[in-house]
Amino acid sequence: MTYKRVLLKLSGEALMGDKPYGIDPAIVQSIAEDVSKVVDQGTQLAIVVGGGNIFRGLKGSAEGMDRATADYVGMLATVMNAITLQDGLERTGVPTRVQTAIEMQAVAEPYIRRRAIRHLEKGRVVVFGGGCGNPFFTTDTTAALRAAEINADVVFKATKVDGVYDRDPKCFPEAIRYEKLTYQEVLSKELGVMDGTAIALCKDNDIPIVVFDLFEPNNIAKAVSGQQVGSRISNNC
Ligand code: UDP
Repeated sequence: MTYKRVLLKLSGEALMGDKPYGIDPAIVQSIAEDVSKVVDQGTQLAIVVGGGNIFRGLKGSAEGMDRATADYVGMLATVMNAITLQDGLERTGVPTRVQTAIEMQAVAEPYIRRRAIRHLEKGRVVVFGGGCGNPFFTTDTTAALRAAEINADVVFKATKVDGVYDRDPKCFPEAIRYEKLTYQEVLSKELGVMDGTAIALCKDNDIPIVVFDLFEPNNIAKAVSGQQVGSRISNNC
């Protein structure tokens, strides 16, 4: 095991599968099985989940909503995903706690850093819902922030794409995938892998980011053991 404590960032879209909206239970099940394999081996795993499969603040504000209000709706969407993920993980036998940045004690614990770390030490997965609790931020930035707070060894950004490319591989078939790159390259080339705030936070705290395809079987386990998957972003290539 290369990484002992991992922060896994799952986008809301990843939970959608091929559906146009919402959550595909089969995807949740398959993520839960992948997670259970690494937790069984002793990896401490925290998850930050997005909400883009349900609601995005930017889209709401583009349609006329007040931006902060729309962002709060987006944050609430992430809580739905967090609870759904907890359900899938627990049905797979993985003890899981949800902590939310916006308190809603009837459904989840509030975010308490030291308690989150204690859960991890006891082998429980912790799912962070509600983003960082503030509008104008993203769940990518939340992932970087929580990773720093819990002293994670690495951030895994598991997405639908198999790494970081020099340009959008959907539009440019000749796009080249990086195996390794620096935070500075991501920022200066404006490679849209995570937002700039998230990259800068990881850079400042020297937390490597591994970007890989969530749907490739066993990718989470491979990444935990340090095998080459996707692209690795760090201070030195
Ligand atoms: N959001 C927010 N503050 C946060 C995290 C998220 O306001 O700290 C809102 C924002 O509106 C965002 C939405 O929640 O669009 C869903 O999160 P995100 O877009 O990061 O989800 P993902 O793209 O990962 O599915």
